[in-house]
Amino acid sequence: MSRFLNGKFASLEAYTPGEQPQDMQYVKLNTNESPYPPAPQVLKTLAEQDIADLRLYSDPDCAVLKRALAETYGVEKENIFVSNGSDDILNFAFMAFGENGAAYPDISYGFYPVFARLHNIESTVVPLKEDFSIDPTDYHGLNKLIVIANPNAPTGMALTVSQVESIVTSNQDSVVLIDEAYVDFGGTSCVPLTKKYDNLLVVMTYSKSRSMAGARLGFAIGSSRLIQDLDLLKYSTNPYNVNRLTLTLGKATLDAADYYREKCAAIIETRAYTTRELEKLGFAVLPSTANFIFAKKDGVDGGYIYEQLKKRGVLIRHFTKQRIKDYNRITIGTKEQMDVFLEKLKEII
Ligand code: PMP
Repeated sequence: MSRFLNGKFASLEAYTPGEQPQDMQYVKLNTNESPYPPAPQVLKTLAEQDIADLRLYSDPDCAVLKRALAETYGVEKENIFVSNGSDDILNFAFMAFGENGAAYPDISYGFYPVFARLHNIESTVVPLKEDFSIDPTDYHGLNKLIVIANPNAPTGMALTVSQVESIVTSNQDSVVLIDEAYVDFGGTSCVPLTKKYDNLLVVMTYSKSRSMAGARLGFAIGSSRLIQDLDLLKYSTNPYNVNRLTLTLGKATLDAADYYREKCAAIIETRAYTTRELEKLGFAVLPSTANFIFAKKDGVDGGYIYEQLKKRGVLIRHFTKQRIKDYNRITIGTKEQMDVFLEKLKEII
């Protein structure tokens, strides 16, 4: 830290992203990326781009992509906000809507507490139930910014749309943000509720089900007033926050919806296969509707499994937080990748 850093950031504990090792090739099951490449049409669109156009700024309104997203999700262009990955949107949302404090689960996406600290927002951390599910009634009437990943991460467990609706209706004077980063792997989206409730913001990403983590593209859907608030912050920080190539590929991705549906179905099938195989090995696996599973085996240390798999060239994610330290989060890759994972795991246990 330099002596110039603003004192208000001195004790900030930054988010630790999952490892992105550059030293060797791992079977990479640690950051919930898709094991599949972008659709052939998307790659073709990229190849056809005139790279010389990179001298020009991107469209700050992201109009073409917004229109395509609006059509895909059955909303209007004014209901869409586009950003440089969904982390960017979460940052803006905490900044914009956290004045009366924020509430989120104790076990959830590790970035939420970081954004709260960054923007000096008082946090109510709500424990998950014993079985790692969320009790929606814990969030009723809090009237704070409520942030819930649905499905939750790293558990993979989801609330139903009507459970979410009960949270939204009981917090009419605050924003409820539903982070649907993993919704395409068997969950049900709450986007239709955004037409009924002006306090619901649904956040989604291209990083998981659309195979574009490296392109950095996220979007949010909500009432036009909420979107205007996010725009106010975007235009006050970085108006060109999505680059030209990513905008174009984002549109091409929507045009290839069938390809991505097929890949999500493959991941769901491989998730069921991996769960069955882990259960045969004596693991307890939480019921997941995401592209990862959260699993533990009694009597075997979660950190040990993580370390031993890494030595054998397989990366998974281990969290040291007391309540979940016995568990590991395993991204669902291809069937072949999961077979390597299972084979190495058998060696270890
Ligand atoms: N929300 C959740 C729950 C996540 O797990 C992630 C991925 N780390 C994100 C949001 C952010 O994804 P991105 O910025 O790549 O869109």
